Amino acid sequence: MDLNIRNRKALVTGADSGIGFATARALLAEGAEVVLTDKDPDTLRDAADRLSEHGDRVHGFDADVTDAEAVDRLRRSVEDAVGDLDILVHSAGIHGAGGLFHEINQEGWDHTIDVNLMGPVRITRAFLPGLRRGGWGRIVFIASEDAVQPYDDELPYCAAKAGLLSLAKGLSRTYASEGLLVNTVSPAFIATPMTDEMMTERSESLGVSFDEAIRSFLADQRPFMELGRRGRPEEVAQVVAFLCSDAASFVNGSNYRVDAGSIATI
Ligand code: NAP
Repeated sequence: MDLNIRNRKALVTGADSGIGFATARALLAEGAEVVLTDKDPDTLRDAADRLSEHGDRVHGFDADVTDAEAVDRLRRSVEDAVGDLDILVHSAGIHGAGGLFHEINQEGWDHTIDVNLMGPVRITRAFLPGLRRGGWGRIVFIASEDAVQPYDDELPYCAAKAGLLSLAKGLSRTYASEGLLVNTVSPAFIATPMTDEMMTERSESLGVSFDEAIRSFLADQRPFMELGRRGRPEEVAQVVAFLCSDAASFVNGSNYRVDAGSIATI
């Protein structure tokens, strides 16, 4: 299917790793011009190099999404390099503070919410005026299964992701009449550095192999993921690319689950 986004201009946050990188690659394969952004300039440069086959349709500008001044610098760099954007994909995120509620301090709460919820708010505030000028736009927030199925040992993450669903739904109501469609994608247990780290910690604390940590996590913690494996970043990116496209012209305010059935409810 041709997604008809050739020459559309996209920004992907968290783009040097995992789901963000796979999304940048999927959008480039569809002919879009893509700005990758992430907080570490070195890994960002590596990621842009890995996509160099797409020539001058690839750009990279680092920014920490918790830093308002850095986000403003990013906006100016993007405007100079490509002009107004058509597509925003928010993939930057952290697992953040873990433990039961009484074990998490204020700083843990603040930082997890700042990256996962306020980061997307800052980026959206910076680039929305340009998207509105274009009269055609797509915004996709990467939320999580945790947004609607909270796990009690990662509540700051769950609360931030639930906030993204609400933010997206509200934005989808305000701007659809201008041609700007807003949706969320909620993955579960995808094979990226984020879950590599979780599974490494689990394997160390249980004294088992990495593969056994994954197997027991699926059995004990994600019993409805019937496929019995971690997802691949590309399996999320394909859905994100669809939502960024002309093909999704009647999809607005939706939350697409890419979770192998992990959410138990219908
Ligand atoms: P990932 O590979 O760790 O990618 C996340 C990226 O976000 C990293 O490159 C990270 O940079 C960047 N980032 C973190 N804090 C940032 C900040 N303050 N400013 C700018 N960039 C920042 O993890 P992923 O699994 O692809 O995660 C992508 C998104 O999917 C996240 O929003 C995550 O919550 C969501 N998600 C993932 C899963 C999963 O199973 N993997 C499931 C549900 C939802 P550094 O590496 O330099 O820290």
